[in-house]
Amino acid sequence: MAFQLIEINTTEQNVTCPYCHQAVLDWTQEQYIQPCEHTLFIAMDLGFEFISDAFEQSMPRSVDEIHANDEQGIHIFNEISQATFTEYQMYKMDLGVEGLYRYIGFSPNEVI
Ligand SMILES: [Zn+2]
Repeated sequence: MAFQLIEINTTEQNVTCPYCHQAVLDWTQEQYIQPCEHTLFIAMDLGFEFISDAFEQSMPRSVDEIHANDEQGIHIFNEISQATFTEYQMYKMDLGVEGLYRYIGFSPNEVI
């Protein structure tokens, strides 16, 4: 498997980068998404909120293509899983809505 999956079971928890310890998801901020240079993507089952160029280039389809074909519903986890990017950590957390999750990918190497 290209990534290590870490599941977080509490909703609205701040998420800190395991490498530089920046709060990437910080609920105290109005702009609560604060990608650091290790952040590959931040996505929900409803769509991507942030994606790095390096990660997008490793996916079979671009984010625009994925969002343009969302009539059948977006399967973000499937899209992410098909990326060829390797050796990263993916955090998966419950959104508090049944069956919906947020996913955050972190690379040990800086990607921005
Ligand atoms: Zn970082």
